Amino acid sequence: MEHIRSKKLYEEAKKYIPGGVNSPVRAFKSVGLDPVFIEKAKGSKVYDVDGNSYIDYICSWGPLILGHSNDEILDGIEEVLNRGTSYGIPTEIEVKMAKLITEAYPSVDMVRMVNSGTEATMSALRVARAYTKRNKIIKFEGCYHGHSDALLVKSGSGTLTYGVPTSPGVPKGTVEDTIVCTYNDIESVENIFNEQGEEIAAVIIEPVAGNMGVVPPKKEFLERLRKITKDYGTVLIFDEVITGFRLAYGGAQEVYGIEPDMTCFGKIIGGGLPVGAYGGKREIMKMVSPVGDVYQAGTLSGNPLAMYMGYKTIMKLKENKHIYDEIENKAKRLEEGFKENINKLDIDAEVNRIKGMLCLFFAEGPIKSYDDVSRCNTKKYGIYFREMLQRGVLMPPAQFEGIFLSTEHKDEDIEKTIKASYEALKIAYEK
Ligand code: PMP
Repeated sequence: MEHIRSKKLYEEAKKYIPGGVNSPVRAFKSVGLDPVFIEKAKGSKVYDVDGNSYIDYICSWGPLILGHSNDEILDGIEEVLNRGTSYGIPTEIEVKMAKLITEAYPSVDMVRMVNSGTEATMSALRVARAYTKRNKIIKFEGCYHGHSDALLVKSGSGTLTYGVPTSPGVPKGTVEDTIVCTYNDIESVENIFNEQGEEIAAVIIEPVAGNMGVVPPKKEFLERLRKITKDYGTVLIFDEVITGFRLAYGGAQEVYGIEPDMTCFGKIIGGGLPVGAYGGKREIMKMVSPVGDVYQAGTLSGNPLAMYMGYKTIMKLKENKHIYDEIENKAKRLEEGFKENINKLDIDAEVNRIKGMLCLFFAEGPIKSYDDVSRCNTKKYGIYFREMLQRGVLMPPAQFEGIFLSTEHKDEDIEKTIKASYEALKIAYEK
C-alpha cells in the first residue's frame, strides 16, 4: 500500500497549515505515521488520494452514524443549496430541528443551535454561571469538552495524545475557577462540594466518557452526581456531543435515566456538517439573549444546510430505532472478536463497550478511570494502528479515542476487522 500523493500533500500542507492539519489528532503523530489524505467516502469506507480504501472507524469522529454520503440523507440537499446557503435570518427548519431535539430529550425544553461542540459547552457554562450567579465549575480528568479556555484543563482527546493537560495561552485567571475531579469517583466530587458547594455554578461531564477511549460511568456515580448538584443548586450539564443520538436516541440520559439541567449536542445533529447545540430547562434557557441578558450569537448558527442534514439524520433514527440495536450488535461482535484475539494471544489488553460505543485499550483491565487509561501502551497502539491501516482498516489514530460505528458497517467489514486485528495485535505485542 503506497501513500505517495498523501505524503506530497502533507509536505505541502505543512507549509501553510500548522502541522499540516486543521485539528491535531488528524496528524497521526501519536501513531508514528504521516496522515493519509482522503478523496472521498461512501458507506463504511473512505478512499485516500492514492486510491487505497479503508473500513472507517473514525466516521468523522462521530457524526456519521448513517455512514458516509448516505443517499437518503443527501437526497434533496441540492434543492436546499439552490435556495441559498445562509441567510442570517430565521428559517422553518430551525424550528423543526429545535422541536425534534426537545421531543427526544425531555430534560431539554429549549435549545439554541451553534456551530460546534466547543461553542455548545462554552455557551452552556456561561448560561449556568449567569443563572446561578456563581463562577466555579467542576469538570473531570480525561473528559474533553472542546477547546474553550475554561474547559481546557486536564482534558481528553488530542490533549491526552499530545500531553497538553492545560494548553499554553490559557491564562491562569480563566481556569482558576475550574476544578478537576476524578471520573467515576464520587468522593472526589463530594469533597469539593463539602468545602465550596455553594460557590459551584456547574458540573460538566461526558455521561459516558468518549475522549479517554470509552469509559462508561458507574450508574451510582451519575446518580449521586445528580443528587449533590440538585442539593446545592448547581447546574448539571451533560456533554452529549458524542453520546447524543448515538448511545441511544435519547442519549446517555435516557440510558441511565438521569435528567441533567442542561445538555450539549454536536456531531450527529449536523449529519456531517458543522454544528452544535445547547439546551436545557426553560427557566435556565430563558437567560439567553434576546430573552435574557446572556449574550451568545452566531453568523452561521442554524445554517440551513447543516439543519437539513441533521434533521434528516435524526428523523431517520427516530423512525428506525432498531438502528441502535443493530449498531450495538456490531459493537458486541467486535468486542467478542477482540476479546477472543486477546485471549488467544494471551496479552494485556482490554475492551470497554457500552451499547454501540467501544474501545480497545492497550493495558490490562479493568479500565474505569483516567488513571487506568494512562497505563496504556501508546507505542504498541501506534504499531497496531499502522498494521491495521496496511490491512485496509482505519482505526482512530490515537489510543484515547473510541471506535465509531455506523449502520453501513457490514458483517463482512466487522469480520475483516477482527481478523486484521488479530494479526496487528500479534505484531504489536511481539515488538
Ligand atoms: N464535547 C465532546 C464530548 C466532544 O467529543 C467534542 C469533540 N470531539 C467536543 C465537545 C467539541 O466539539 P467540536 O470539535 O465540534 O468543537
